[in-house]
Amino acid sequence: MTVTPIRLFGDPVLRTPAEVVTDFDKELRQLVADLTETMLAAPGAGLAAPQIGVGLRVFTYHVDDEQSGHLVNPVLHFPDEELQDGEEGCLSIPGLSFDCVRKQHVVAHGQNMYGDPVTIEGTARLSRCIQHETDHLDGVLFVDRLDAETRKAAMRAIREASWSGLSSASGLAAPTVKLSPHASR
Ligand SMILES: [Zn+2]
Repeated sequence: MTVTPIRLFGDPVLRTPAEVVTDFDKELRQLVADLTETMLAAPGAGLAAPQIGVGLRVFTYHVDDEQSGHLVNPVLHFPDEELQDGEEGCLSIPGLSFDCVRKQHVVAHGQNMYGDPVTIEGTARLSRCIQHETDHLDGVLFVDRLDAETRKAAMRAIREASWSGLSSASGLAAPTVKLSPHASR
């Protein structure tokens, strides 16, 4: 297993919808292992493949020791309309967190790394995590989900963040590829 650099806000890979996984091979199992190790090292509650530059529909999660694992090709269903509000962050937007409204309950259908069907029923933090990571697979970031005022504050904080490549004098949000300070291969 390898800790892999995490792509940061502004990297185009984070805005690119990921491809459905069709080959449940050794490479996929290596990807799950790398995602897991990178997530735990960060540490973070979840990590999606595009965040390490791989455009496949896979994520790992670790809300706590009982609620951890991975999911391939997730499809989400919401059994009711109940919402939750709470702080949310992202390893691709390090050091910043903002209140984000999510569904309280989610049922995620998908597969494990061997291609077997898997269903995860999530509530509270696990539900938030599954929604956040599945968004990554669609090129969506949690700042997109914030109300207009909070999003404005978030974008300002991102521009001012030391890791951000968006603070150029031109003010243009040029896509830049930056690597996290985590150890590289
Ligand atoms: Zn994230």
